[in-house]
Amino acid sequence: MPTLRGDSIPELRVLASSPPTRQTESGPPEKPGKPSLASTAEESVSTEFYSPIPKGYVKGRTKYVVVIGTVMSGLGKGIFSSSVAKVLKDKGLKVAPIKLEGYLNVDAGTLNPYRHGEVFVLDDGTECDMDLGTYERVLDQNMTYHNYVTSGKIFSEILLRERRGSYLGRDVQMIPHVTGEVKRNLRELALTGDNGKPVDVVFVEVGGTAGDYENGFYIEALRELAFEEGPESTCFVALTYVIEPKALGEQKSKAAQLGIKRLMESGIQPHIIACRASNPVTDVVRQKIAMFSNAPLERVVSMHDRPSIYTIPEELRAEGIDREILSQLNLHSRVNQKKEDEARKDWTRFIVGLTKPKRKPLSIGILGKYTEVRDAYASIDKALEHCGSHLDAEIEQHWLETTDLVSPELARRALEGLDGVIVPGGFGIRGVEGKIQCVRHCRENGIPYLGICLGFQVAVIEYARNVVGIKDATSTEFSKSGSPLISVLPEQKEIEGLGASMRLGAQDVQIEAGTLAAHLYGGTSVRERFRHRYEVEPKYIQQLTDAGLVFSGKHPEHQIMQILELPRDRAEGDDRPTHPYFIGMQYHPELTSRPLRPQPSFMGLIAASLARRHG
Ligand code: GLN
Repeated sequence: MPTLRGDSIPELRVLASSPPTRQTESGPPEKPGKPSLASTAEESVSTEFYSPIPKGYVKGRTKYVVVIGTVMSGLGKGIFSSSVAKVLKDKGLKVAPIKLEGYLNVDAGTLNPYRHGEVFVLDDGTECDMDLGTYERVLDQNMTYHNYVTSGKIFSEILLRERRGSYLGRDVQMIPHVTGEVKRNLRELALTGDNGKPVDVVFVEVGGTAGDYENGFYIEALRELAFEEGPESTCFVALTYVIEPKALGEQKSKAAQLGIKRLMESGIQPHIIACRASNPVTDVVRQKIAMFSNAPLERVVSMHDRPSIYTIPEELRAEGIDREILSQLNLHSRVNQKKEDEARKDWTRFIVGLTKPKRKPLSIGILGKYTEVRDAYASIDKALEHCGSHLDAEIEQHWLETTDLVSPELARRALEGLDGVIVPGGFGIRGVEGKIQCVRHCRENGIPYLGICLGFQVAVIEYARNVVGIKDATSTEFSKSGSPLISVLPEQKEIEGLGASMRLGAQDVQIEAGTLAAHLYGGTSVRERFRHRYEVEPKYIQQLTDAGLVFSGKHPEHQIMQILELPRDRAEGDDRPTHPYFIGMQYHPELTSRPLRPQPSFMGLIAASLARRHG
C-alpha cells in the first residue's frame, strides 16, 4: 500500500470536502451522500473491464436516455432533456436527470455569472449550473449533488482513490478508470435517484458538443455503459442544428450531417435525432439527415424555436418522441395513462395562463450588477414568468444598473414608471450606494419592494441610515470603517476564502404569526435556500426593531435575521414607517419558484404592484 494518504494532502482534503461546507449551527441538511472511497478488492482485479458496479445495482432495471449535442453548443440541451424527462415522469415513471459538465471546476461556486449564467444552489448546498434550475422547474423535483458532475469532480474522486491506494498498483488511465468513474456516478444515481430508491430512467445531458476534447471521456463512458447494460438499455438522442443561411433562404443539412457523423465516429449510433432550427425542419431535410445517420424518418424530428420552453413537453408528445423512446427502451409496460392525463391537465392550465395575451401590464425594475446578461438572474426571470401566468400580468422587466444613481433625485428618475422593484443577490460594493438610494425611494413612496439577499442587506442599511439615524451604517463587505450593520457571519470569521466560506443550501426559517411573511407563506415555518457570507449584526437588532423594522423570519434557534418587512399599518399614534409591500429575505426565494407553485414573496410583489397600478 502507498504510504501517502489522500487525507494527508490538504488540497485533496479540500476537494473531498465538496459539496460545499454548510453551517452546523443551523441543523444543516444532510451532507449529500458521497461515493465510498474505501479500497475494495473488486477494483484490483487484473481485467481490462474496470467498471465499478454499486452494491445492489441491478443491470437493466434502470434505463438511460442520453442527450448529446452536435454542430454547436447553446441548443438548449438542458431544456430538451428536462422536457423529455417530464413527459416520461408524467407517465408515472421515476426519472433522475444528470448533467455531465466538461469543465475542471469541482462545482460552479467560483464561476462568474457574467460568463456562465447564474450559480444555482440546491437544497443540499451544491452550487451548480443553471441547467439544474431548469430541471427542478420543469420536473418539479429537487436535485442534489448527485445530479451534477463536472470533470473536476470526477478527477478529484479518482485522485483521492489513487492516493488511498484503491487501484492497488495499477496505472490509472483515462480508460478504464476515468470512464469507470463516470459510469459509477451514473449507476449510483440510477440506484438512488428517487430519494434513495432506484429510478426508471436516468436522463444524461452531456455538456458541450460531440468532438470536443473535454467531453470525449464522457461520450466514451456512455458508449461503454450502453454496451455493458445491453440491448434496450440506452437511448441516444443527438440534438443537432439545421442552418438556414439568409442569403439562401433554405435549410441546409450538411452541418447537421457532419455533426452526427462525428458522434458516430465515437461509436455511438443515435436512436433519435432532434433537429433544432429557427423554422420547422422540412421533410426533405429530415429525409437527408435520416438517410445519412441510419435513423428511421419518424425518429428525426423538428425542434424549431418556440415562444416558451414550457410548451416543449407537449410538442414532444405531438412529435411522438415519447413513444419512440419508450419503444427503444421497452418501457411501454411501465406507463400509467391516468397519471399522464392528470399531469397534462395541470400543465396545460399553466401554459394557457402563460401564453394567452394578459390583461394587466406591469413594469418591474430589477436593480442588478450583471444587467447585460439576463442569464445571470435566470431564476428571477423565471419566478416572474410563473407569477405572470397565475396573476394574468404582462410583466415587463426593466434591468437597471445602479452605479450612477448616487442621489435621491437620480434614483427617483430611474424608478419613474415602475410598479415594483427587486434588488437581487449580489457581491461586492459596485452599485450599492445607488441601490440604497433606490430602496429609500421605494420605502418612502410606497413602491412595492422585494429585496433578495444583498437586497435584504441594503434594506437594513437604508433603514439604519435614514430611519434609525445611524448615518455611517454599512456592511463589512463594503467598508472597514463605519457602523457594521451587516457583518460576516461569526462562524465564518475563521474560514475566509472562496466558496467554502458561504452559508449554503436550505435552512429552516421560523416566521412570526400575523406578519406579512406568515400571510404570504400561509404558515410559520418554511425552508428556503441560502448563499451568503454576511448577515445582520445582532447588536443592532434592537435599535432597528425599536424604529419599526420587523424581522418576521428568523433562524429557529440562533439570532440570524432571515426576513424583514414593514407593516401595512400601525396603531393610532404610532408614526413609524408603514408600507403596502416592503419585504426582504436573506435567502434566495427565486430558486424555489416552480411553474405550478410560484414562490409566495414574488406572488406578493406582483399582486401588490398590480394593486398599485390597476387598483
Ligand atoms: N454579498 C452578500 C453576502 O455575501 C449577499 C450575497 C447574495 O446576495 N447572494 O452575504
